[in-house]
Amino acid sequence: MLNSHKSTSSIFIAILAALLLGIGLRQFNFDQAPAILSFFFQICDWVAQLFLRALKLIMVPLVLCSIVASLATLSPNQSIGKLGAKTLSYYLASSLVAVLIGLIIVNLIQPGFDNGKPNEDIRSLFMNGEQTSSEDLSNKVEVASQRDAGDFLDILYKIIPENLFATFSDNGALLGVITFAIAMGIALRKLPLQSSQPMTQFMISGQEVMITITNWIMLAAPFGVFALIFPTVYNTGLVLFVQLGKYFTTVVLALGVHLLVAIPLILHYLAKVSPIAFFKAMRPALLTAFSTASSASTLPITLNCVEKRVGVSKETSSFTLPLGATVNMDGTALYECVAVIFVAQVMGVELGWLAQGGIVITALLTSIGVAGIPSASLVAILLILKTSNIPNAELAIIALLSVDRLLDMSRTMINIASDACAATVIAKSQGEKLKI
Ligand code: ASP
Repeated sequence: MLNSHKSTSSIFIAILAALLLGIGLRQFNFDQAPAILSFFFQICDWVAQLFLRALKLIMVPLVLCSIVASLATLSPNQSIGKLGAKTLSYYLASSLVAVLIGLIIVNLIQPGFDNGKPNEDIRSLFMNGEQTSSEDLSNKVEVASQRDAGDFLDILYKIIPENLFATFSDNGALLGVITFAIAMGIALRKLPLQSSQPMTQFMISGQEVMITITNWIMLAAPFGVFALIFPTVYNTGLVLFVQLGKYFTTVVLALGVHLLVAIPLILHYLAKVSPIAFFKAMRPALLTAFSTASSASTLPITLNCVEKRVGVSKETSSFTLPLGATVNMDGTALYECVAVIFVAQVMGVELGWLAQGGIVITALLTSIGVAGIPSASLVAILLILKTSNIPNAELAIIALLSVDRLLDMSRTMINIASDACAATVIAKSQGEKLKI
């Protein structure tokens, strides 16, 4: 099962095998992939889709049951308001730390400059556009390009959806499910036991059922992870990577500082736990986040790791993690800030400290509304570029899109690490005894 060592190492081996095979086969420089390889790609696509669909399938019922059960069974002397305020302020603070790390590193490295001047090669890339491999994503860019600052209101609308069932069927709308679940949990606490108990019991039992199904899905994780990573590695064009190499390095470095310096410091000083033990315990979730590039799809596994391996109580993890999967996106906030300042550097737009401060705040706010699905933050970046009057925003985004998958995988892993770190810190602050 998931808490065995075997599961973690098989996911790890699957990632390694996918990387080696993908890089190895690229060396052959086929004009056209041979029939057997195309067939293998097709199988990978089926396996990847089945794995992702299973994770998405379980997501809504798991989030609903977990939050309701957690709030309804929270001990009477604990206030939901206090827990909520503590969680939200922690999320805001940790995302702010991440954005500031991004801001400092992008200003130090200046990836958009070449010898102190805007990089002409990248600028012409942004002026002429570059074909994107994904029709779906270019459609998103097109839709987003027609938006304006007023669309920040969309975030608010997502919090209170108008149709519960439409929310259930929209994978990007987890925020609405969370609001409904919180309202339901609070209502159950207010009702007399006689009325609340059947529903609370139903939700507790529902949560157990969903966790059992998650364990089954996890058995397929090594295959799903391989099927997701191998085609990505094989298909990723290296030319753009070389051109945008400095940008790529800046993002990875900033994300690395947050993951390997900021989060361990928080764990050590605030949660008083060993960062190494924490990362070991969280490995299945971190590797799944890396492979799927989706915080929402990884949520069932995050919940499992935080409860079973880190030892955070069900009450705390079931409330903080689903909320964190949509609201707390440190990697995404950091990335938005770096990407916007990079595009401004390339386009020769001077951003003073005040303008950069504005970008920090908008990156922070939009990261709250970004859905936990692949490449979701590109739409937010486009919005910030447009509101900051940076020219050629659409073409720049399309160019960034071409190298987005690997960066998306990395920032999603940071998003999950930060959610789990938050759950650990909050559990400790509630006086819980952990396993690590
Ligand atoms: N893929 C990210 C996530 O699911 C969101 C993003 O930054 O695009 O957490």
